[in-house]
Amino acid sequence: MNICYEKDVDTQVLADKTIAVIGYGSQGMAQSRNMADSGLNVVVGLREGGKSWQKAHDDGMKVMNIEEATNVADIIHILIPDEIQAGVFEQSIKPYLKEGNTISFSHGYNIHFGYIKVPKNINVIMIAPKGPGAMVRKTYLEGFGIPGLMAVEQDFSGNSRELALAMGKGCGLARAGILETTFQEETETDLFGEQAVLCGGVTELIKAAFKTLVDAGYQPELAYFETCHELKLIVDLIYEKGFSGMWNDVSNTAEFGGLSRRSRIITSETQQQMVEILTDIQEGKFAKDWALENQAGLPMLKRLREIESELKIEKEGSKLRKLCGLEK
Ligand code: NDP
Ligand code: MG
Repeated sequence: MNICYEKDVDTQVLADKTIAVIGYGSQGMAQSRNMADSGLNVVVGLREGGKSWQKAHDDGMKVMNIEEATNVADIIHILIPDEIQAGVFEQSIKPYLKEGNTISFSHGYNIHFGYIKVPKNINVIMIAPKGPGAMVRKTYLEGFGIPGLMAVEQDFSGNSRELALAMGKGCGLARAGILETTFQEETETDLFGEQAVLCGGVTELIKAAFKTLVDAGYQPELAYFETCHELKLIVDLIYEKGFSGMWNDVSNTAEFGGLSRRSRIITSETQQQMVEILTDIQEGKFAKDWALENQAGLPMLKRLREIESELKIEKEGSKLRKLCGLEK
């Protein structure tokens, strides 16, 4: 694995370039401000009348509409939600591109699945922080950064790799390390991670464990603390010291119980489902489902959101987080 740090990256390649960050949400705000603070020439491209326009302006950013921003920029870094990128690209970006420009992303989704097709005389790169925008900004201000991924899909000008790395350095990512990957690998592993563990797997695990305790007659407050609240403490230990560090810090009873019982929770059937989830991603089935869902106006997502908000653990959790001062 090739990892680049600050000393390996020269931002001089961006000295005469203008970067248009399209979008000023989670990633757009963090990345555009970090790059501007790093001395790069940054403008922000937004739809007029949208709610982030005033915010970007108040933060001291140079704001213009997406067409104008594309026009003045050499690099167009697209940081709006993945499911609307293709439409915005066709309408407001593609007609204003000039030969040798660079299109950049923080997620390979639209390029990998073919929803965005970029002309051959344009570079296509990715620079993707491995964490939410708020962390990208916070760690940058603290003098550090979070790790990032970079990839080149199309290299017209011959220096696309240098451009991507320099943008990553401007975002603060080279302080923690920028790992080189491909659009395919980033997209497929990112989707799998969020479905199997980070967003899907972990909430389902908490939900099932909470329900087991409450159905057995235990107080929901205790059930919440045991199956959800304390998870953060354990994840922090794994994050900082690995499994072995975590096992060291918990009691021997917890270590014996965890090690001897965990394979009854994640069974060979679960493992098989993970393989199938990955296959759906690799074969484009997930992307097709998500595209159809968007076309239909998000009927399934809306229903699932409603069911999720009705969960007992959500009501219980909100009450307890307020008591602990975690939530207002
Ligand atoms: P956000 O949802 O935070 O983006 C919001 C921005 O998109 C706002 O400025 C909004 O403008 C603009 N926007 C929304 N709809 C439209 C539209 N129809 N036309 C024009 N602009 C629109 O996105 P994220 O920052 O979460 O994601 C951006 C990219 O970064 C994605 O590719 C994502 O996969 C990737 N990424 C995200 C991570 C994260 O933690 N969120 C982590 C790593 C990568 P307005 O105010 O006008 O509505
Ligand atoms: Mg991700």
